[in-house]
Amino acid sequence: TGGQEKREFQAETRQLLDLMIHSVYSNPDTFLRELISNASDALDKLRLAALTEELPGVDTSDLHIELIADGGESDSARRLTVTDNGIGMSREEVIDLIGTLAKSGTAAMREQLAAARAAAKDGELSEQASADLIGQFGIGFYSTFMVADTVTLVTRKAGEDEITLWRSSGEDTYDIATVPVAEAASLGFDGEVPMQGTAIALDLKPTGGDTDLPDYVAEHTLRRVVRTYSDFIAWPIRMAVPDNSADEAGEDSGDDESADSDVIDEGPKTKEETLNSQKALWTRPKSEVTDEEYTEFYRHVSHAWDEPAETLTISAEGTFEYQALLFIPSQPPFDLFSPDHRRGVQLYVRRVFIMDDAEALIPQYLRFVKGVVDAADLSLNVSREILQQDRQITAIRKRIVRKVLQAVNAMRENEREKFDEFWQHFGAVVKEGLIADDANREQIFKFTELESTREAGEGENPRTTLAEYVERMAEGQTEIYYITGASRAAVENSPHLEAFRARGVEVLLLTDPVDEVWVDAATDFEGKPLRSIAKGDVDLDKVGTAPDAKSEEEEKKADEDFSDLLEWLGGALEDEVKQVRLSHRLVDSPACMVGDTFDMTPQLERMYRANGM
Ligand code: ADP
Ligand code: MG
Repeated sequence: TGGQEKREFQAETRQLLDLMIHSVYSNPDTFLRELISNASDALDKLRLAALTEELPGVDTSDLHIELIADGGESDSARRLTVTDNGIGMSREEVIDLIGTLAKSGTAAMREQLAAARAAAKDGELSEQASADLIGQFGIGFYSTFMVADTVTLVTRKAGEDEITLWRSSGEDTYDIATVPVAEAASLGFDGEVPMQGTAIALDLKPTGGDTDLPDYVAEHTLRRVVRTYSDFIAWPIRMAVPDNSADEAGEDSGDDESADSDVIDEGPKTKEETLNSQKALWTRPKSEVTDEEYTEFYRHVSHAWDEPAETLTISAEGTFEYQALLFIPSQPPFDLFSPDHRRGVQLYVRRVFIMDDAEALIPQYLRFVKGVVDAADLSLNVSREILQQDRQITAIRKRIVRKVLQAVNAMRENEREKFDEFWQHFGAVVKEGLIADDANREQIFKFTELESTREAGEGENPRTTLAEYVERMAEGQTEIYYITGASRAAVENSPHLEAFRARGVEVLLLTDPVDEVWVDAATDFEGKPLRSIAKGDVDLDKVGTAPDAKSEEEEKKADEDFSDLLEWLGGALEDEVKQVRLSHRLVDSPACMVGDTFDMTPQLERMYRANGM
């Protein structure tokens, strides 16, 4: 509850709105897709609440989305309203959801924006740079400001007795007012106040001039946009269109020119038409669905604006029937590494939406996969806890994991460039699977590409799989050598590498934080132990070709010669190190730090410390 207020947008939101308003995003149509997507989610939520008896008595008999096009008196008075009779929002929700970016989004947004500004000449973002930012954050609701001067949202949360109005011109502030339902008229909203759900009224920017926007109150435009972007939406998207049959009927009685003002006021007869086919894409065979349809569906489920890199379908019949439609995105979401990231697999039961982010269906390390699973035999009341233990869900999850891993592997084999992108964006996430998913570790290793000291030739893949590494192993080499660190530059300059370089022995250069952990979890590959070259004593005597090998006697003698120095150093550095010993593996550097075989690496130590562990 609360009266009428003017509030400021949060800084990041303001910047984003500024981009929306001032950059010409190449596809303004997307605003309608976003509004319809939100409306559809709101209807899903309401139906679910009614099913699970959270909201008994709520009317779900005619859930739908409606487009109300009002041509107004002039080009500048046109208004498009999108309504739904879904779950609606409370005042607090409007403030939290509409006035603010998601928490995980703000920091990412700030960084990306700063980076884009730094890269731009005199801080002015190019059209492309703004479009990229808008696309990456895919901020749904705010995209309305691409086409509207003023946006008014009026909403009533199902089961509550208040109505909230939110209005903004996309500048620094928005107005918000909340009143009891009985006083809805006092909001001064010049459209129809919804008795359930949300209405969003867009006072459209003029079509002429440099904006060159399509006319979003024209019937043909709305038909086209809905068909293109929202055809699969499960709820009817309705619009009043001219009713020609009624026109004919009108002509028959048109002779008696009655002065009955009712008829004249109503204007031309209209009828409600549903603009979308409402066909659930996952129930249709892949051959019957176009790439464009899949792309738009992907954008709806993932709340993203990019294209899917891969589209995967799974269908199972028999005792346990289900269908899955899954996507591997081409761009990473901004919250991929944030603890409150959204996972994107939705659960449906016989085409009824049950939950977002069904964690039982997809492991953490594949959290970038988006899509839906529609299972035929689950209860509509199924809870997250029950899902975790459901044997059938476990079986679906297994199949999904296998399917995704196979797809990634196939991408690597057949579409090199696409795989490179994928690995760059999601490699660090997938490698978490090497720790968590013993059963599939081998499969994941097939496409896990790592950097190494090997110098790749022109056009050759600079990264290597473990299998390829093993094939190249030096004479006498029985272990897989690696070094971990914060960056490629840091590890490349490590004195630990000297002896390996000198002997022509390849070393993996692992620089993702997750590498620290999987090398411990995996311990070996095809029977070859993974060995950190920064820990313990690595015996290189029998490996590769020694540049100027010292005999054992020579080494022994050196140890004796330097024993006084070593003792003195050991005493002087007592508080810093466990032991000082003579190294036979350094070539150019005078000294290096070595960890005990079972010590944490400095990287891991830093990681734990950063996490307060
Ligand atoms: P996203 O859909 O990715 O969450 P949006 O900017 O499109 O981002 O919407 C922000 C939030 O506002 C939604 O998650 C939802 O909670 C709320 N919202 C938007 N539109 C509606 C609507 N028509 N009915 C109910 N809630 C809505
Ligand atoms: Mg949205």
